[in-house]
Amino acid sequence: MKLFNSLTRKTEEFVPLAPPHVGMYTCGMTVYDFAHIGHGRKYVGDDILRRVLTRFGYEVMHVQNVTDVGHLSSDADEGEDKMEKGAKKYGKTVWEVAQFYTDHFYSSMDALNVLRPHVICKATAHIPEQISLIETLFSKGFAYDTPEAVYFDVTKFEGYATLFGRQKLEEKKAAARQSVQEGEYKKHPADFALWFKRTGRFADHAMHWLSPWGDGFPGWHIECSAMSMKYLGSSFDIHTGGIDHIPVHHPNEIAQSEGATGKPFVRYWVHYNFLRVDGKKMSKSLGNFFTIEDVIKKGVDPLALRYFYLTSQYRNELNFTWEALSAAAAALAELRKYVINLKSQASARQTLSDEKLKKVDEFRAKFDDALSNDLNTPQALAVVWEVIKSNIPSQDKYELVMEFDDVMGLGLSETESLPVEKPVPDAVRVLADKREALRKAKKFAESDAVRDEILSLGYEIEDTPEGSVIRPRS
Ligand code: AMP
Ligand code: ZN
Repeated sequence: MKLFNSLTRKTEEFVPLAPPHVGMYTCGMTVYDFAHIGHGRKYVGDDILRRVLTRFGYEVMHVQNVTDVGHLSSDADEGEDKMEKGAKKYGKTVWEVAQFYTDHFYSSMDALNVLRPHVICKATAHIPEQISLIETLFSKGFAYDTPEAVYFDVTKFEGYATLFGRQKLEEKKAAARQSVQEGEYKKHPADFALWFKRTGRFADHAMHWLSPWGDGFPGWHIECSAMSMKYLGSSFDIHTGGIDHIPVHHPNEIAQSEGATGKPFVRYWVHYNFLRVDGKKMSKSLGNFFTIEDVIKKGVDPLALRYFYLTSQYRNELNFTWEALSAAAAALAELRKYVINLKSQASARQTLSDEKLKKVDEFRAKFDDALSNDLNTPQALAVVWEVIKSNIPSQDKYELVMEFDDVMGLGLSETESLPVEKPVPDAVRVLADKREALRKAKKFAESDAVRDEILSLGYEIEDTPEGSVIRPRS
């Protein structure tokens, strides 16, 4: 399997540290607002990666953090702690806000058929681990204490400036996401906070804990180093995030982790490109900010959103429009219709001819090739449609599509239990049999007349390689 590794900027053959085990850490949500459709893209991406690894025989251990400590934002609402802002807005405590949005996030992900990580770890539940990691960084000379915060000294970590192919430190400092909350005591502009003190503008910070450096709260980056290494070890296989994590968050994680352990932190870094709406960055002020709730409230199946995500390879930017979502919903509905028909036609297993057997194997290989080529989901979807339109027997088609759906996660196996069609009336069946007999006797004019009769009763007949299928007129 090939993956594009953002650290080396090369597409590489994936080789885990201790096969068949794969350790995978996926940066989680900052839980101060509803999950939006951009988040959906990232977490469906993680889900596809995990399902593909499982299909290829790996045993994945999937760990995800929940950033439930409030931090300042670098967005338009600069200068206010996101969690505290949410708490004020809704008249809740910061803890209640964090729990509410955490629950909401995971139920949105359930709606997108995203498998729950094996370990979901909250930053607030891992304060001792973060403190202990900061202590190690002190003992190794990477951390320094100031009256406002404990900082990581980036000049002590060799190669920091060029991680992920970035340019010079000075050029990237502008991108520092949380630089707005860091003050005058930093030795270098790119140094970042490991621990904030509850003083100055943070004197009233609602979430706070005692530490060797006084009362305060952890910086944003340290939680990911502390928790990923706790659950996956000092070195593990895959770490993911959105492309916005390439300039700051992930280099900082590498510096903290490798600084503390002296070992290589992560082998493969996977970054998902962004989702934009109508070609623009999603933002509340532009009125183009949609949550997964909004999609559901519009009566659109959230799995149509998942289908829409799969139409683009994860490294490409994806442009959301309601029209594009409708098209995805129509394609998914069509796929479901085929699956229901296949299921109803699927009879006892037939012996496959060599030619059809070869076709099944070819489809499987094509599907796997697409996914092992850096998770090419649009190509994999195309193979699903090729199978649907092929002439292999219904039973095999059905089984193959179900097998593929273990990866695509479009919930096609549940389709069979949907109360989709009422049973075909006996009168229609009798006419269908009559038509079949006339066709066999090559009495086509008469068989067409019977077909018209069937149509007038609200049903139509489709002739497939496996026989004719009766369904309500569309
Ligand atoms: P946040 O809660 O803002 O830290 O975001 C959680 C994850 O979602 C991060 O990995 C982000 O990179 C990703 N993310 C946020 N916005 C988008 C977007 N519009 N498109 C794709 N991924 C996003
Ligand atoms: Zn992270």
